[in-house]
Amino acid sequence: MATQRKAAREGIVTPQMEAVAREEGTEVQELRELVAEGKVAIPANHRHTCLVPHGVGHALKTKINVNLGTSRDCVNLDVEMEKVQKAVEMGAESIMDLSSFGDTAAFRRKLVQECPAIIGTVPIYDAIVYYNKPLQEITAKEWLDVVHMHAEDGVDFMTIHCGITKATGERFKKAGRLTNIVSRGGSLIFAWMEMTGQENPFYEYYDEVLEICAQYDVTISLGDACRPGCIADSTDISQIEELVTLAELTQRAWDRDVQVIIEGPGHMPLNEIAANMQLQQKICKGAPFYVLGPIVTDVAPGYDHITSAIGGAIAASAGASFLCYVTPAEHLRLPTLDDMKEGIIASKIAAHAADIAKGIKGAADWDRQMSTARKNLDWDEMFRLAMDPEKARRYREESKPEHEDSCSMCGKMCAVRNMNAILNGTAVDVV
Ligand code: SF4
Repeated sequence: MATQRKAAREGIVTPQMEAVAREEGTEVQELRELVAEGKVAIPANHRHTCLVPHGVGHALKTKINVNLGTSRDCVNLDVEMEKVQKAVEMGAESIMDLSSFGDTAAFRRKLVQECPAIIGTVPIYDAIVYYNKPLQEITAKEWLDVVHMHAEDGVDFMTIHCGITKATGERFKKAGRLTNIVSRGGSLIFAWMEMTGQENPFYEYYDEVLEICAQYDVTISLGDACRPGCIADSTDISQIEELVTLAELTQRAWDRDVQVIIEGPGHMPLNEIAANMQLQQKICKGAPFYVLGPIVTDVAPGYDHITSAIGGAIAASAGASFLCYVTPAEHLRLPTLDDMKEGIIASKIAAHAADIAKGIKGAADWDRQMSTARKNLDWDEMFRLAMDPEKARRYREESKPEHEDSCSMCGKMCAVRNMNAILNGTAVDVV
């Protein structure tokens, strides 16, 4: 079976392209051309049969990803499955299973059987669990075998940290960084290279990785091992050098008809975000950019869903097309169900705000409907349209107004009610 990219380049419209075009309200041939050019990826492993496909990239709605999975401290599979269901219900288009403890294979396979969202994984994490032996004893072949296992299991995209080479590592050590390498996968593969003296196996055997991806149509998500982990490290030598390597690896993947998305920063001050997006879009020839934040200040632990939503909105309005959510638990603990909900809402707000700015078809219509309901003081309609209807309804119910049509904020001085009245020729009574 071909990949979406191969089919697109041969002029074939796949059922997945049709579904994405329907969802986005775009013309399917235009979408096919974007897939052929690599500007849109439709991650869809042949074996993920319950997938509801989504497109990620140019001129499409900004998508969000939710990270889930077990850790040594939190290993309850039922809790993680509950989070998956809630995330999908709340509109997450993608779920990344970052499990790093317990029966990871069982969880991954259950996800593929039951979850209609795009499913992503990071094979490096799973290799550590799967082999359960000292890091330096994992062989190059074993790392690649895990990639194959995940592809066979039906994962739609995989983060592969192939952009950090021995040369990048040397440059990173020479230049220095305040917070070193903060990518979990990046730090593991860097440590492996240091301990074994060998080249990054995902870089050295990249053609084999591509062969696996092409066989199952796994979209390769080129991991950014050197993403900045603090404001002080943003847009530094290590980050930019790795991005150049990722651009080269993008072309090699496209030459094998493998779909690509590219991962990006990280922590970054507001004033550097747009330039970073433009640089990525230019040197990676428009490949979809998947940003992890960017978190715009380091000093708000407990509120990093906000710091990242600010950065995500700017990034997406400047060219990124896929936002990895960040929860209030970032830097602190494994997210709970409530942390996850807050992270999803924050990320959806960032994505939607960017879609309005980018002029994505239909994006501003939602706001227009909400504003009309506000003007009409139509509370049920406002709740129906709200990004988080449950919270909106709860807030209103917790603080009942004197007048049913207004709210407890301004009471009789409700500007909306008074303007509606005066423009309808009715006297306004504020006493
Ligand atoms: S009372 Fe004030 S805040 Fe509430 S709906 Fe009217 S104008 Fe808006």
